[in-house]
Amino acid sequence: MSLHYSGPKGDYPVYLCAADQGESGSPRCQQVRALSVDRHIEQALLGALTPEQITMAVEAVGELESQTKLLDQQWRLKCERARYDVERARRQYDEVEPLCTFGKNVELSHLSEMRTRARGS
Ligand SMILES: [Zn+2]
Repeated sequence: MSLHYSGPKGDYPVYLCAADQGESGSPRCQQVRALSVDRHIEQALLGALTPEQITMAVEAVGELESQTKLLDQQWRLKCERARYDVERARRQYDEVEPLCTFGKNVELSHLSEMRTRARGS
């Protein structure tokens, strides 16, 4: 079963199973509006779980949230570092480019000097 949203604004959650449809092209085997069953599922679930299990589930959610926060933080640091590297590479390129032009100019003046000398002799 997976969750989908239907309706013109996608406001209505629907549980549906499309496993058979995906595998053999047969029609969906089950489909039910979530709003009508969610309360019953919630009650059945809470009734089946012991208080310890509920505590564990809440803790697990908290753990997942803090892991997500950590990953998000690491990702932001990576982006920042990449931006810094790009900026540094751009600065290095800007510093080197005039030197290359200077090098070429030196080469060219050296060539013309050699030509002048060749003509002179
Ligand atoms: Zn199914």
